[in-house]
Amino acid sequence: MPPETTPYALVRRKGMKNLRIRVRPADGGVAVSAPHWVPKRTIDDFVAGRSEWIARERARLATLPPPLEAGPEAEALRAELRARVAPMLARWAERMDLLPVPPFIVRRMTTRWGTCNVRTRRITFALELARKDDEKLEYVVVHELAHLIEAGHGPRFHAVMDAHLPDWKRIRRKLNGR
Ligand SMILES: [Zn+2]
Repeated sequence: MPPETTPYALVRRKGMKNLRIRVRPADGGVAVSAPHWVPKRTIDDFVAGRSEWIARERARLATLPPPLEAGPEAEALRAELRARVAPMLARWAERMDLLPVPPFIVRRMTTRWGTCNVRTRRITFALELARKDDEKLEYVVVHELAHLIEAGHGPRFHAVMDAHLPDWKRIRRKLNGR
């Protein structure tokens, strides 16, 4: 009996050299792009060989926030989140010696909770944080502000987080549902 293969969507592309596989965040479906000359059999084997990776990737995606639909509900949540973030950001920017308070926006993001543009200092928060409590929101605020001190996620970043929010790893685990 042939090994069972996860069903997948196949896209054939010209000019590709390798097979590429991804798990769609929207529905957890597997999508493969492949050059025209690669036989279906080879692609099946490739997908079968990646089954552990697919499971891990699906588990990782499951911890991410579900996308909020656009519309009045999302707009209300956005206003609510802005009102919660503004004082928190002001308080932490002062505490971390990062004044003036960086500008921020709230928008729907499906793959991360926040981003920080270190050049413009603008911080973006995921609208999905509107469903999270203050402790988790505060962790994301401090995390993004910390990037204005250290851009990467290495030991120096950890040291900045430890100094300001000693409990940050526990909160991060809760935020990511682990
Ligand atoms: Zn980060």
